[in-house]
Amino acid sequence: VQEQEAHAAAQNERTFIAIKPDGVQRGLVAEIISRLERKGFKLVAIKITVPSKEFAQKHYHDLKDRPFFNGLCQFLSSGPVVAMVWEGEGVIKYGRKLIGATNPQASEPGTIRGDLAVVVGRNIIHGSDGPETAKDEINLWFKPQELVNYKSNEEKWIYGVN
Ligand code: UDP
Ligand code: MG
Repeated sequence: VQEQEAHAAAQNERTFIAIKPDGVQRGLVAEIISRLERKGFKLVAIKITVPSKEFAQKHYHDLKDRPFFNGLCQFLSSGPVVAMVWEGEGVIKYGRKLIGATNPQASEPGTIRGDLAVVVGRNIIHGSDGPETAKDEINLWFKPQELVNYKSNEEKWIYGVN
């Protein structure tokens, strides 16, 4: 029972993942969602929105001293972004693994950026880099009532418990 409870708690881990305007314009929304879905992660929130530049600056506030900050925020706010929350055991770290290295030239084949992007300024997708940023980014992009709690029928096959 204790082990089952530990598993159940781990399965509640959440991360924020966003398809940036380049990914949306290139028609990669379904492809990207499909990769996360087939892995066994669970989609618990999703919306399409054009963030303001101020909002983009909030999202990327950690990078405000970097030379590319202005262009990055300009770009994120230039068109539709598909904002999502994904849930599952290890989803923060493994989500980053599925996404690949920041620079697509260094991303392994098989990763989203490795397979679908070429340059760092147009790397099509964002994923939270740790538990704290995941929490902050989910709170920035979503209201609590926009997150949907549900049990997926597949969980017992993905996790082997419950
Ligand atoms: N970026 C850029 N030039 C750089 C480094 C980063 O344009 O030299 C952009 C890129 O789109 C990246 C985003 O800034 O995804 C955020 O940078 P971070 O280091 O947080 O990379 P990520 O977490 O997205 O892999
Ligand atoms: Mg980052």
